Amino acid sequence: MSTGSAVAEPTGTSVAGPLGEARAQLAEAAAILGYDAAETAVLAAPRREVTVSIPLRRDDGTTEVLTGHRVQHNLSRGPAKGGLRYSPDVDLDEVRALAMWMTWKCALLDVPYGGAKGGVVIDPRQYSTAELERVTRRYTSEIMPMIGPTRDIPAPDIGTDEQTMAWMMDTYSVASGHTVLGVVTGKPISLGGSLGRASATSRGVVYTALAALRHLAIDPASATAAVQGFGKVGRGTARFLDEAGVRVTAVSDQYGAVWCGGGLDLPALEDHVDRTGSVTGWSGAEPVENDVLLALDVDLLVPAAIEGVIHRGNAAAVRARVVVEGANGPTTTEADRLLEERGVLVVPDILANAGGVVVSYFEWVQANQAYWWSEAEVEARLADRMAGAWQDVLAASRQHDCSLRTAATCLAVRRVAEAHRQRGLYP
Ligand code: GLU
Repeated sequence: MSTGSAVAEPTGTSVAGPLGEARAQLAEAAAILGYDAAETAVLAAPRREVTVSIPLRRDDGTTEVLTGHRVQHNLSRGPAKGGLRYSPDVDLDEVRALAMWMTWKCALLDVPYGGAKGGVVIDPRQYSTAELERVTRRYTSEIMPMIGPTRDIPAPDIGTDEQTMAWMMDTYSVASGHTVLGVVTGKPISLGGSLGRASATSRGVVYTALAALRHLAIDPASATAAVQGFGKVGRGTARFLDEAGVRVTAVSDQYGAVWCGGGLDLPALEDHVDRTGSVTGWSGAEPVENDVLLALDVDLLVPAAIEGVIHRGNAAAVRARVVVEGANGPTTTEADRLLEERGVLVVPDILANAGGVVVSYFEWVQANQAYWWSEAEVEARLADRMAGAWQDVLAASRQHDCSLRTAATCLAVRRVAEAHRQRGLYP
């Protein structure tokens, strides 16, 4: 990696929100690794960013213009990889942060990708399926020059799903004149998706949660847990924890939380959610405030919703012994420090929720080879990767006497920096 005059802006940690957090984590890792300001600036700077307008014809005949982004943070280790988020809260800085975390996540799990993220500023609940299809196809065609199986491979994230990926794959394939299965991951099984992809993030969260509990000599069979979020990550996490014998006493979604000290009957709760669309209003548990869930007296807390939910204002109230980050960036830097001071073990997002991108990688490998693996093969390979990464991070945290987050970030940043250094700076 070259050294020389530093670029000031991309490493700036003064920016608020997830991007400030992501940059602060990189700055800390770079300092431990002994990288100078120029090296750090290269690692911090997004490689490519595009912002596009998405004119949408609504079902009522009116037209509105939405905004979308795609950020490729780093390409040193391979094609860019990362999800596409549909949320009214999306902004470019958030997408930049999420793209940087994808770079570290892929490097940490040693999948041969760089990091990327996309986002469209939209509340998908306010739009019909036909409108979402038009948004997705237009966004895909606007970012078409950037994506492809060897360039940048999107996947689902908050507000998007396998149907979104099917539309993206179809739009890209029609423009290419042939079917290109490897352009996105998280596709429906019938269209080249991988068995085990839908549950992969949750499975990975539970592998790391069980490893963390055992590391603290807490028997999972006598442990309790609270899970914030009941979507693609939180729902499976609650179910797999329950199946592993952990007593899940509370879960929440964006509408509220429910609690039952004896443990939630998760199959019954899932039935209720399938019928009503929310965990709230279920007769099998007591309603509680979302903030109360974060402060419950449990062994394990899994924030599996959005960024920044554990912050300076509520970190002191967290009573769990282990926080396993199912979401990306749920703990702010200040909260991280407060939790560390109080001896709460935080398993960082780039490790804990990496199961999704690991099985995305498996899906891409299978699509490129047109040869499909059994669910058992996918799960065994995922378990192997997660166990290996957990051991690597634990060993690095002992070696450097630092938090799991700092250890994970250092391992990942070093892998990316080494790839960059070996490739050299062009021209
Ligand atoms: N959106 C997921 C994440 O944040 C998955 C990304 C992927 O599979 O590319 O890790």
